[in-house]
Amino acid sequence: MRCALCDDTGWKPVDVDGVSRVVRCDCWRQQANERAIDTARIQKRYAHCELTNFEQHYDSLRDAFRKATRFVEQFPVVDRGLLLIGSHGVGKTHLAVAILKAVIRAKGARAYFYETGELLKLVRDTYASDTNEMDVLRPVLEADLLVLDDLGVDKTSEWVQEMLGHVVNIRYSERRPTVFTTNLIDSDDPLHPRSFLYRLGPRTRSRLFEMCDWVYMDAIDSREVGGPDATPDQIQRWQKNSPMSPRNIEKARAVLPGKAGGQLRARPRERGGSADLKWPGGRAGS
Ligand SMILES: [Zn+2]
Repeated sequence: MRCALCDDTGWKPVDVDGVSRVVRCDCWRQQANERAIDTARIQKRYAHCELTNFEQHYDSLRDAFRKATRFVEQFPVVDRGLLLIGSHGVGKTHLAVAILKAVIRAKGARAYFYETGELLKLVRDTYASDTNEMDVLRPVLEADLLVLDDLGVDKTSEWVQEMLGHVVNIRYSERRPTVFTTNLIDSDDPLHPRSFLYRLGPRTRSRLFEMCDWVYMDAIDSREVGGPDATPDQIQRWQKNSPMSPRNIEKARAVLPGKAGGQLRARPRERGGSADLKWPGGRAGS
């Protein structure tokens, strides 16, 4: 169907103080935003994810949805990003992708989706080729919005911690919002194999507190409980034993440090406002 405003030229006539001019048509902006979504690196299996089809069967999911909607409305004037925490299957990635598409559509933002493991591999691959790791990192560090999916899922190492710490740090100091998803646990035990401390290190963990709202998403995950036809016994066992069941999350929440909200705005800029992206680490490999 031809655009009634611009006859598909992409330019529509407007009247400015009695003078006829042309400006970019709404249809052109819309198409540009759809192209930006196509190049945002969203994987095919998440292509259907929108805010409108996010399932909100539990309180924590309704709360996460409200925070996501508010984030999109306020973007880019947001103090903090979001850290979506929960077990597999609760819809963290769905919500993150939906936020990403919404800020592209509504705000024309430059926004990208990366699985954390995929990003680490892309950087690592540059070490064995002629490409520079900055070619990989630049869009990650400079995007108006970055979604970093499954933070901490990979085998940790000094290099992994440094690389992720670098990405987190730069986005923090340049005040560019990030939406993370993770199924890590905030345990005080630095040796807990699934804790933020163990996987990412104490500095990155405290940065995440400063730069993000921690949004806990929990629901009974049908896969974990034993399928959609789980018996009450199976559900009870899950509630008791899973670190992601609502009651265990409450316990974990009780040990969280106080809110570090508002600090982003008050902090002086560390980097003198330059967009210098130099990466101090060496080529240590994984
Ligand atoms: Zn048009």
